[in-house]
Parts: sequence; structure tokens; C-alpha cells
Amino acid sequence: MQDLTEHIIELIRLASTNLPPDVEAALRKAVEQEEPGSAARGALETILKNVELSRSKSTPICQDTGTPIFYVHHPEGWSTRRLREQIVAAVIAATKRSYLRPNSVNTLTEKNTGTNIGDEHFPVVHFDEIEGDTLMMELMLKGGGCENVGAQYSLPNNELGAGRDLAGVRKAVLDAVYKAQGQGCAPGILGVAIGGDRGSGYTASKEVLYRKLDDVNPDPKLAEMENRLTKESNEMGIGPMGFGGKTTVVGAKIVGLHRLPASYFVTVSYMCWAYRRRKMTVKGDEVNYE
Ligand code: SF4
Repeated sequence: MQDLTEHIIELIRLASTNLPPDVEAALRKAVEQEEPGSAARGALETILKNVELSRSKSTPICQDTGTPIFYVHHPEGWSTRRLREQIVAAVIAATKRSYLRPNSVNTLTEKNTGTNIGDEHFPVVHFDEIEGDTLMMELMLKGGGCENVGAQYSLPNNELGAGRDLAGVRKAVLDAVYKAQGQGCAPGILGVAIGGDRGSGYTASKEVLYRKLDDVNPDPKLAEMENRLTKESNEMGIGPMGFGGKTTVVGAKIVGLHRLPASYFVTVSYMCWAYRRRKMTVKGDEVNYE
């Protein structure tokens, strides 16, 4: 089995220092929509300057380099134990090279391990065996500020007047956006899971954030809801970094999960403007990054 450690270090460097093109394009579009001279426009212009500088200098886009969340889709025959060892080695090396800030703190002792390695959930690694001969590794760096404003709702919710249907889902998601205000480093991107249990809801609400911003949900009802939630979130006027303005979110992605008849969860993972996600594919000796 190949040693992918150096390639994974490059995947981490790219994710941490080079914002994906679809995210940058959405931020550039947003800046044009804000009033010249407004705090909202100024915040977006500063963000975009920072994005360019980080890319040219290979330095992190944000001081919080986030929780590394890996998804490894591997062909039959790859050892997940050895892949995990390589991911751990790459995270340690990337931390030494300052692509990642040491972010793994023992919650009981408050001691930072200094390596970004913690228990088996830090970094977060998911494995999935797939058909074919190409390994695909996806990485998302999920910031702490935006993670703090994620939320889960159990419907029905009397306070919101939210029932167990898409109208209720809409109320729950908009409530999460309203409560986040500027704290999740808006403009954000909403990852939403409808259904599942509490655990699978949170997992799926992050998985859906691996989708490209400009793709279209294959389910027409969810596609419509994604557009509606984006539009209505922006009508709240919270704006970039909470300064007010037209851009509170630049997109919403929704996935529907099966659920128990007794439960109806709506889970929102809020992603900040530093929407750091990158992908690597490995086929034989050929390695490509996106
Ligand atoms: S929420 Fe995002 S942009 Fe804000 S500090 Fe954290 S990583 Fe950075």
C-alpha cells in the first residue's frame, strides 16, 4: 500500500491556505452587492485581501485552522488502520509547518497536545469503501466560532410554531441563522440535515457541506428550499461579520435522512466564510487535488 503522508500534508496545506474557487467566487459576487463605503463591503474586501495573501504566502486563511474532518473513500484492499496512521502523521507534520494551529485541547486537563492529535476523534476521520480503483480523500477544516452556532431542533417546536414538515424545517433553520447573528463569522453557508437521529443529523449536516456552492440539489423540493433559505437569511440584514448588509449567507445545502416515526430532527451546521474544503484523488501514482 502506498504511503500518502506527503500528499496528505499537501491536501492540508491547500485546505488551510487556499480557499476553493467556488467559495471565493461567491464572496466576490457578494462584495458587489454591498453598498460602496459600507462596513459590510469593507469586511468582505478585507476578507478577500486576506484570501489572496494567504494563497500567495501559503499561510492559514484564519488563525483558527479548525477541526480537521477527513472523509476517505477508498477502494477494496486499502488498510484503514494504515491510512489513519498516515493522516495522523500528516496532521502532526502540517502543524509543525504551521499550516495548522495546534488546536487539540484535552477538555479535562485543559492541556493542548501541541500536535493537533487528540483521542480517536481528533482529527475526525470517516472511512467508506467504494468500487473502482481511485481513492478520494476529502478534508474540511471546520472553525470553532461557526461550530458554536450550529443547532439542532426537535420538531414539533411550539415556541417557533414549527411542525413536522418543510415549513417547520424552514422556521427552525431561520431561527438558527437569526440566533447566530454575526458570531459564526458571516457570511456563512448552511449545512442542513432533516431527519436521522441526533448523531447522524450532525454528521450529515457537515457531509452536505462537501457539496460545491453552485451545484443544484437533485431533489426539486430541497433545491427550492435551499434557494429560499439563502434568500430569507439575507433578508434578515445581519450581513458580513454582523455589520449589517445584504449578505448573511452565500448558500444553503440540505440533505434528507430517514428517521424514526417518533423523531423529527432538523440539524444545522453553520460554516463560516473560511469555508475550507479540498479534495485529493489517488489512482496508481497519479495524485490530483481540487
Ligand atoms: S468561525 Fe471561521 S472565520 Fe471565524 S474565527 Fe473561526 S475559523 Fe475563522
